Amino acid sequence: MPKATETVLEINLKSLEHNYGYLRSKIAPHTRFMAVVKAYSYGNDASEIAKHMETLGVDYFAVAYACEGIALRKAGIKTPILVLHAIPSHFEDIIAYDLEPDLYNKKGLAAFQHVAATKGLNAYPIHIKFNTGLNRLGFEEADIDYLHGQLHADKHIKVISLFSHLAASEDMSVRDFTIGQIDKFKSIANTFVDRFGYKPLLHILNTSGILNYADSGQLDMVRSGIGLYGYGNHPEFDRELKPIGTLKSIISQIHTINEGESVGYNMGFTATKPTRIAIIPLGHADGIGRHFGKEKGYLIIGTQKAPIVGNVCMDMLMIDVSGIDCREGDEVVIFGATVSAEDFAKTGNTISYELITGISQRIKRVIVR
Ligand SMILES: *Cc1c(COP(=O)(O)O)cnc(C)c1O
Repeated sequence: MPKATETVLEINLKSLEHNYGYLRSKIAPHTRFMAVVKAYSYGNDASEIAKHMETLGVDYFAVAYACEGIALRKAGIKTPILVLHAIPSHFEDIIAYDLEPDLYNKKGLAAFQHVAATKGLNAYPIHIKFNTGLNRLGFEEADIDYLHGQLHADKHIKVISLFSHLAASEDMSVRDFTIGQIDKFKSIANTFVDRFGYKPLLHILNTSGILNYADSGQLDMVRSGIGLYGYGNHPEFDRELKPIGTLKSIISQIHTINEGESVGYNMGFTATKPTRIAIIPLGHADGIGRHFGKEKGYLIIGTQKAPIVGNVCMDMLMIDVSGIDCREGDEVVIFGATVSAEDFAKTGNTISYELITGISQRIKRVIVR
């Protein structure tokens, strides 16, 4: 791997393939796989990852918002794309770019039916989300009669999947709650099939659902995001997965300060002895927030840990490299292949999802094939 000469997020497509293979090994060969690529594939990259996943043969992509799906279509992605958070003002775009909306409430459903009828669409694919306990988006089981009344005579749209989302699939201490969500979804699906007389695709499992509940919950399709990017929400699974993104930077400058001298804005760090400080071109505008400052987080130089000292600035941060053999221009690693984003995230009291999705688009992405 080439040494970094500026701040870069290296994205390893081989690791992505490995993770896909591992997740697939947990489910039956005929179970469909939806790759969740919202938020720039969790901060990694918008289109290269989807293009690669398409060559691996995933069945579906999911994005959060229409604009993300449009970007994938513009990049040449042909696989079906589910828009998880479809908003009525985006419906025209959704149809124009052949995206498939998740409809989760009566107002949105009626609005989409209206647009579909106006355009004279024929059996346009839609997905219906049900709430089974997350209490975020979704219809309730009691809405199925309403849905039937609303949809049975509508030829313009066609329900091609029913789905729900688990609230705590990584937390085995609430296993009963999760099993309850899966059972509730199965009951909703049965009622739907009885009422409508056909069975759409059913899906409820996310990454931790695949890892912990493949037996009871895999149904027709699974949806995975974080697992594809190398994190399994548990050390046992983290060992099997490979982080695909490695955030690296370089040392811009090194200087030694004396006892009593301070570093950075508001004198966030004061030296108690002569201290070697290295300046790194990476700051809170890049997604490394202030909560990592004041010796909470650390960067890796070779195999050694250098704590972040003082307050993280907008465009740079400072680390204590006393006793570490390093020079201006040397590479530093923030997280990735060798230090997990989960571990780094913990030092700032957050989780891998928040850390990696927050890595700014200002940072150059380098694809490693
Ligand atoms: C983001 C999201 C996922 C992916 O979850 P992971 O834990 O990253 O696998 C799956 N389903 C829905 C509805 C989501 O919003």
